[in-house]
This record gives sequence, structure tokens and C-alpha cells, in this order.
Amino acid sequence: MNIQPFTVTIDFAENVMRGADQHNVRRASAMRGYYKDAAALEKLIRDGNDPLHYETFEKHVPEEYGHLLFCISKIQPGVVGNEFFMTKGHYHTKAGTGEIYLCLQGAGYMAMKTAEGKFDAQRMERGSLVYVPPFWAHRSVNTGAEPLTMLAIWPADAGHNYGDIEKEGFPKRFVNRNGKCIIE
Ligand code: ZN
Repeated sequence: MNIQPFTVTIDFAENVMRGADQHNVRRASAMRGYYKDAAALEKLIRDGNDPLHYETFEKHVPEEYGHLLFCISKIQPGVVGNEFFMTKGHYHTKAGTGEIYLCLQGAGYMAMKTAEGKFDAQRMERGSLVYVPPFWAHRSVNTGAEPLTMLAIWPADAGHNYGDIEKEGFPKRFVNRNGKCIIE
């Protein structure tokens, strides 16, 4: 589909996208089943009034071959038990499609895995550009004290497959041990 060129503004002070079409919010209650310490997550939902976990700001483009989707993804700092806040993680429905993540704020990791069980974690801080190759599921983890904000760009026809990660999980977790992030 042929559409008109357009511009959006990334606000580098607030680390948000101005003029986004869609603002998706995931609260702690959306993360049931993803953290090892389920009781700690329930406590966070109950005592913390189901706090904001992560959010995305997205612009609509046709979800078809040739177009590029992009979003600002922002994960709050925190832990569930001793496990750092993270996104659910996904494969692409068209598994043979990659993605680029540029870190704008904060610190953490891009955790990646393949269906064959390979695992990789790339450190992210402001200015890090992580290349997620085709076939690698990906999840971002905030190990810092401020929001972890990234710009992501991927083929618009890639689609999201969350179900396989919901079943498989990731082989390693990012935990806070005496103030240090340990990948175990
Ligand atoms: Zn993706």
C-alpha cells in the first residue's frame, strides 16, 4: 500500500513518542506466569496497586511486506522477588525476520533465544544498537534504576508470536544479587 510520508518526534527529554497512534500499557497483572516468584508478583499487584510494567508507543503503518513498523518501548525499573522487570518476549510470526533496538535511556539487556535452545544476552545502555537476527526470540530486561527506553524497528509483516515464549520461557533469568545483575 502506498501511503504519504510522515514524521513523528521522539521526545528525548521525556523519552516518549509524540504523535503516536497507539499507546499500549502492560501492568504487573499482565505478567502472571513469567516470573519465577509468582507470590512476589501477586504481592506487587496487590500492594503496589497493579503498577505500570512497560509500555509502547506505536505508529500505524500497513502491516505488509516492504513497510517498517517502529515503536518506543519503555520498561519501568524494579524487581519481582529478585528478578528484574522485563517484557514478555516474543518470536516473530514470520520467524525469519529480524529487528533493531536502539537504547535511548537506562540500562539492561536484550535477552535472546532460538527454538533450538541457543541463548544470548546483549548489554544495553544509551547508544547501544542491538541487532536481533531472524529466528531469535527477544525480551528486554531493565537492570537499572531508571526506565529502560528503546526505539525498535522491524518488518511490518513480521507479526508477534507470544505463545511459544509463554510455553517455553527463556533458559536464563536476570536476578539482583546484592545490587549486581546475575544471569543464571
Ligand atoms: Zn520483535
